[in-house]
Amino acid sequence: MKKEKRELQKGILAKVEICPKCEDEWIDEKGYEALYNLFTRKTFKIGGSLAVRIPKEIANVIGLKEGSEVKVAVKEKKIVIEAA
Ligand SMILES: [Zn+2]
Repeated sequence: MKKEKRELQKGILAKVEICPKCEDEWIDEKGYEALYNLFTRKTFKIGGSLAVRIPKEIANVIGLKEGSEVKVAVKEKKIVIEAA
């Protein structure tokens, strides 16, 4: 089975397996689990606020570092975090 790295979203890489017959691609179980853990985060409390960890792979995509200012907005019931 051929394996290649694919960029699923900007800066987010995953290993995919490629079927030699039909060239279908899929993410193996380990890769799927890693992606699931990357994109599914658990909120936690800091004082009266809720916090969520931004994984470094995702922070890197928009150039966030510790201490970066961000703008937080609500759009269509989603929270959008943008580098300020
Ligand atoms: Zn196939």
